[in-house]
Amino acid sequence: MPAHLLQEEISSSYTTTTTITAPPSRILQNGEGKLEKTLLHLEEDIGPELKDDIYDPSYKDKEGPRPKLEYVWRNIILMFLLHLGGLYGILLIPTCQVYTWLWVVSCYGFSALGITAGAHRLWSHRSYKARLPLRLFLIIANTMAFQNDVYEWSRDHRVHHKFSETDADPHNARRGFFFSHVGWLLVRKHPDVKEKGGLLDLSDLKAEKLVMFQRRYYKPGILLLCFILPTLVPWYFWGETFQHSLYVATFLRYTLVLNATWLVNSAAHLYGYRPYDKTINPRENILVSLGAVGEGFHNYHHTFPYDYSTSEYRWHLNLTTLFIDCMAAIGLAYDRKKVSKAAILARVKRTGDGSYKSG
Ligand SMILES: [Zn+2]
Ligand SMILES: [Zn+2]
Repeated sequence: MPAHLLQEEISSSYTTTTTITAPPSRILQNGEGKLEKTLLHLEEDIGPELKDDIYDPSYKDKEGPRPKLEYVWRNIILMFLLHLGGLYGILLIPTCQVYTWLWVVSCYGFSALGITAGAHRLWSHRSYKARLPLRLFLIIANTMAFQNDVYEWSRDHRVHHKFSETDADPHNARRGFFFSHVGWLLVRKHPDVKEKGGLLDLSDLKAEKLVMFQRRYYKPGILLLCFILPTLVPWYFWGETFQHSLYVATFLRYTLVLNATWLVNSAAHLYGYRPYDKTINPRENILVSLGAVGEGFHNYHHTFPYDYSTSEYRWHLNLTTLFIDCMAAIGLAYDRKKVSKAAILARVKRTGDGSYKSG
């Protein structure tokens, strides 16, 4: 994006948030008690800390045909086998011990938070800050989720926001549901993804020792946390059969977290309303929010990527925000960035699709 456009984009988000210091009285009369509170915390309502996760509408696909797809057979075979294992795991659910069910749900929630609160909201968008114990928790959870290390995940994610729905977007939803869901992991990256991804500012990630540590020891990390530990715990501690442990707690749980995350890239870019910005593809999708613990408010999220809640609301279908708020309550999370209601309403009026329901 040319510098002046970027600046305009950023300063416009500042302006929309600062013009509301004297809130129009009609908004306050709407009877929203919380609104007043939000408006009083304008200092919190700051613009983006990063520039490289802000959408650059000036970037267009290059002319000419797309390069031929190059399949990555290793990934295709492994993904196929994993999903086969996951499907078999479904058949074993009724014969699992209750403790195993609880273990699977805990591992699901834990690893999902490693993606949503960790790789996504903390490391890709820097939408809040976390102290070391929380970052440690999140990097372990993130390793259990095994979706590439935080450095690579964040690079792919920033380029996804900045060059959304172009060839430089790793999971460009214009290439269809399957491609944006899982297909993008089964073929070589489009050259534009590499080119644009290589130009991003990732200095914050490179400077973070924990992120670099995970990257260096990623293979043993995933082996231990995604596969060995989830399998051994039910088998060792409450005598679950090895088969149930492996297929349900490991293959099925891993498959489910993967697909829940992928739905954000596929379904939430294709199905749903666009109350905040009708000029972009991402949409509000409640079902995705349920599976992906709060990440389905995707039209909002692409409009305001620096909001720590990835949603206009806080705890509405959003376990990740609840988690971050609990961490903030015990002092482990701070500087949570939240866009003010007035800025949101102004944006809705300017670019929304008319589906916005206040309240
Ligand atoms: Zn997206
Ligand atoms: Zn994002």
